[in-house]
Amino acid sequence: MLRNMGDPVATRNAFRWDIPERFNLGAAICDRWAATKPERLAILDVTPGRPPRECSFGSLSEQANRLSNGLASLGVGRQGEVGDRVGVLLAQSIETAVAHVAVTRMGCISIPLFTLFGDEALLHRLRDSGARAVITDAAGAARLSALRDHLPDLRHIVSIDGEDENAIGMDALCNSQSPEYEAFPTLADDPAILIYTSGTTGNPKGALHAHRVLLGHLPGVEMSHDFLPQPGDQVWTPADWAWIGGLLDVLMPALYHGVPVVACRFPKFTAEAAFALMRDHGVRNAFLPPTALKMMRAWPEAAQHPLSLRSVASGGETLGSELLNWGQQVLGATINEFYGQTECNMVVSACAALEPPVPGSMGRAVPGHEVEIIDPDSGRVLPPETEGVIGVRAPDPVMFLGYWNNPQATQDKFIEGPEGRWLLTGDMGRKDRDGRLYFVGRDDDVISSAGYRIGPAEIEDCLLGHPAVRQAGVVGKPDPLRGHIVAAYVVLNQGFAPSDALASEIAAHVKTRLAAHEYPRLVRFIDEMPMTTTGKVIRRALREWAVKEGA
Ligand code: ATP
Ligand code: MG
Repeated sequence: MLRNMGDPVATRNAFRWDIPERFNLGAAICDRWAATKPERLAILDVTPGRPPRECSFGSLSEQANRLSNGLASLGVGRQGEVGDRVGVLLAQSIETAVAHVAVTRMGCISIPLFTLFGDEALLHRLRDSGARAVITDAAGAARLSALRDHLPDLRHIVSIDGEDENAIGMDALCNSQSPEYEAFPTLADDPAILIYTSGTTGNPKGALHAHRVLLGHLPGVEMSHDFLPQPGDQVWTPADWAWIGGLLDVLMPALYHGVPVVACRFPKFTAEAAFALMRDHGVRNAFLPPTALKMMRAWPEAAQHPLSLRSVASGGETLGSELLNWGQQVLGATINEFYGQTECNMVVSACAALEPPVPGSMGRAVPGHEVEIIDPDSGRVLPPETEGVIGVRAPDPVMFLGYWNNPQATQDKFIEGPEGRWLLTGDMGRKDRDGRLYFVGRDDDVISSAGYRIGPAEIEDCLLGHPAVRQAGVVGKPDPLRGHIVAAYVVLNQGFAPSDALASEIAAHVKTRLAAHEYPRLVRFIDEMPMTTTGKVIRRALREWAVKEGA
């Protein structure tokens, strides 16, 4: 566990990994507390329209034991070396946690799946992984049942809503089972979770993670939440637990530390509901991705409902200084930005408990991880203040085992250089002389215009500083003269109407604040931003629009 040594360097130097040879992620997040403090609150489920439900660690463990036994009775288990893949197609709920614990404790591999996925997305993941069973609800079971002809490996659909024509009921499967189950003695390196990337740049890739991935996440989670756990902590995130940001940045590490997690399924995320939830349910720590923060900031009444959270973490996209300032005033905490990706997560983080944030920087390499800027051709570590690809030294406990069924893509993800072997994130960044890291942009998102290389993040942040702007996406539009010009796609706040005058005003807003070559020569108003299910701007779609618009 991370110890606060008063400053970032001493804190880093005091940290050592402790990865046992045998480790089971499911057992680690629940059995320890179930054995010592079974009554301790694990999950508070406050989904609107239902009475709130509390689940203790004792109950979580017992429900998971019954489900492991139930799944085993269906023939789900380890077939030789590799465990069966079991999909978990559920939104935030007690049962979602039960399912992940049950599957991983069997030595099987759980696949978190968003309920928002369309049929194609579901089919891609279930077919690619060869999932043998899926745990879902009645709505999910009906959808899967219609797709079953295309899923030859899928044998069992288990529904938390009880038996129907599409599924066996989880209760019926579990009730007759023993409440005892001994976890499979997995190695820390055995596969546990198969989680797909967001698909921001193309087809989502299945990143296979080992049981140790949980231990690998702990220092990053502790940093980004100003030394979680502290007495009274209680966490919530609007991010779906099917995303690595919900599952491994919030749910699992919190449970590991015995910190209660608030679960909630909003029919639709609104700022008002998010504020009310945090106020009414004792939330002290929140992971709020930039998209959620932007929506909250756009709520005109937000400033009248200030909160006093102990810690707020944000990541997955650039945070920017606009949101940082807003968070200090309205959320009552300094937002700690962190950085990572499905393949290798939470390797960089700010930590307000150790030092004030530097706007524009996403923080430092988290203790235990070595993060450098790498020249992607030679694999060399680049000096400070030089732009290159963000790389993480291998091996690292948080690193994925590989892409599912894709050894070539796995191999391409790494580079061997004179200073060692590095995982290349595919993101461009730089490091300053003090060791702080800056995100420049994804490889494809960096705009080259008239000889300059421009990252979209800074411009998007500046655009957000204009009162009319609710969301902004910046891309390069091909231009015969300059190579590319900066094009901004903007969703307006309530009360503002698109006009040429407003477009010029917004462009001028950037021009006066950033360098003249960075201002958007094209500002387009759109009703809705193209986003992934994880709330990321799909700049690839914006680029296609920009190309279509012609010169
Ligand atoms: P795909 O790989 O399928 O295109 P994706 O990369 O969006 O999708 P994730 O693994 O969910 O899928 O996202 C990781 C990426 O998110 C990082 O590689 C980086 O581009 C971006 N990201 C994460 N944290 C930050 C941050 N703090 N600032 C800017 N970008 C970030
Ligand atoms: Mg990616």
